[in-house]
Amino acid sequence: MQLLKTIDEVREFVAGYKKFDREVGFVPTMGYLHDGHMSLVDRAVQENECTVVSIFVNPTQFLPGEDFEEYPRDEAADLQQCEDAGVDAVFLPSVEVMYGSNALTSVHVSQLSDTLCGMSRGVGHFVGVCTVVCKLFNIVQPDRVYFGQKDAQQALVIAKMIGDLNIPVDIKVCPIKREDDGLAMSSRNARLSEEERSKAITLYTALCEARNMIHNGEKASMVIREAMTEIVENVDGVEVDYLEIVDPVSLGEAEWIDDTVLIAGAVKLGGVRLIDNLLVHPENGPWEDDF
Ligand code: AMP
Repeated sequence: MQLLKTIDEVREFVAGYKKFDREVGFVPTMGYLHDGHMSLVDRAVQENECTVVSIFVNPTQFLPGEDFEEYPRDEAADLQQCEDAGVDAVFLPSVEVMYGSNALTSVHVSQLSDTLCGMSRGVGHFVGVCTVVCKLFNIVQPDRVYFGQKDAQQALVIAKMIGDLNIPVDIKVCPIKREDDGLAMSSRNARLSEEERSKAITLYTALCEARNMIHNGEKASMVIREAMTEIVENVDGVEVDYLEIVDPVSLGEAEWIDDTVLIAGAVKLGGVRLIDNLLVHPENGPWEDDF
């Protein structure tokens, strides 16, 4: 497995595969890899002749006061997991390599970026995400890219950016990997105390209750939102950031549920912000892992 630190090294490495028409899969990450990340990596390794993973904690998607400094990092463990999974190269750029000293260009996918996490973290969050992902696409020039449904809004925003900017890449969105109790795997889970970890499941509990209510015929999303909010607010130390029921393509509010909806939530425990979501259809049973 190759460790690549500069843009020229990446271009040269990938060119070696492209020359022989070998397909390149790419998994962008912020590191501190867990089984959720590795499910994307495994799929990329299966579907491509070459798999590149990037590990870059992107400062521009963290807004002032967020956890950029505290974000967990473990380069050695990440590299070992990539090696074991059959990754061909890991791109580990510095902030200087990614942005230089005078970057003036950014990518904003309007509307889709302005709601849910874009509303709670600020529009700058997805501008930071799109800009770095667009740059990474231009550096790696992969055939396929892999994103997680865990960050459902991010996957939608990136898919829109790919379409709007005619980026020649296929996007694959992979199902959410969960711990045994249902907690969505996240690098930030490592920042939870034991007590916070036991309370973190509340978000998934609230999402599952919403799914049950929909399957039992409840159509008014206001009623379901209230039930979810009550579940979370009943747990000491867990704060609702947002709990929304939206159209899974436009992310517009779904006031009345008669088709597939995305139930998306974010909570804060101490200084840690966690997100999760479920895709739910009123008539079909749980199918979030089926697509
Ligand atoms: P991150 O390192 O948090 O930026 O995540 C890198 C990629 O892994 C993103 O596309 C995430 O959506 C995806 N990912 C993170 N957690 C999970 C999970 N629990 N299941 C599936 N994919 C995930």
